[in-house]
Amino acid sequence: MAGAEERAPGAPLIIAVDGPAAAGKGTLARRLAAALGLPYLDTGLLYRAVGRRVLDRGVDPRDARVAEAEARALRPADLERPDLRSPEADMAASAVAAIPGVRTALLDFQREFGRRRGAVLDGRDIGTVVFPDAPVKLFVTASLEVRARRRFEELRGRGVEADPGQVEAELRARDTQDSSRAAAPLRPAADALLLDTTALDAEAAFAAALRLVRARLAEAGAPLSA
Ligand code: C5P
Repeated sequence: MAGAEERAPGAPLIIAVDGPAAAGKGTLARRLAAALGLPYLDTGLLYRAVGRRVLDRGVDPRDARVAEAEARALRPADLERPDLRSPEADMAASAVAAIPGVRTALLDFQREFGRRRGAVLDGRDIGTVVFPDAPVKLFVTASLEVRARRRFEELRGRGVEADPGQVEAELRARDTQDSSRAAAPLRPAADALLLDTTALDAEAAFAAALRLVRARLAEAGAPLSA
């Protein structure tokens, strides 16, 4: 797989941030993008919006024909919906994400977004499928227990009623579904840098990620000025 060494001089910088749900990769990716002056794309939102569109039609999100059609019909306004982060949307996103035709329909948008001006993208398959040649790939993890606690606090902070045991069970189910699917399963790219945030708060995780990014780019002879 091509690494940083093969990045054409002047090619837009892509930073891939992958990992399981609630590992802290969204916050991390957004902060990295701001610090490095790059656009940011939360690719999970695309799957969430497709899942929502399928639910709106009253159809099971595992229905490949409907899910593919909704993925092709996705519009920017769908990403602005206020109901993309509920537990129901979590599970619908994971269900449509296992359908190969849905993933194909969303691929061009993600690649186009990154190629324009470079980007930090977070998701499950950015370093393995969407941008396998990205010069910097982070795989962000944390223990299931810590991820469940973070997700529970996040839901509570937004005023969403949740049961801690159920939040953990849903995360476990989503991990299993995302890792065991045949199409672009969740797994670290061979050249990904692993970052375990179990014992790190958001500030420490960001500092560690920035160190890894800088080190990887310096190795590649393309140090950052940011
Ligand atoms: O990252 P987030 O938790 O918002 O993603 C929601 C779901 O979308 C994930 O559980 C996963 O099934 C799917 N997803 C994916 N590939 C991505 C991003 C998200 O399969 N690049």
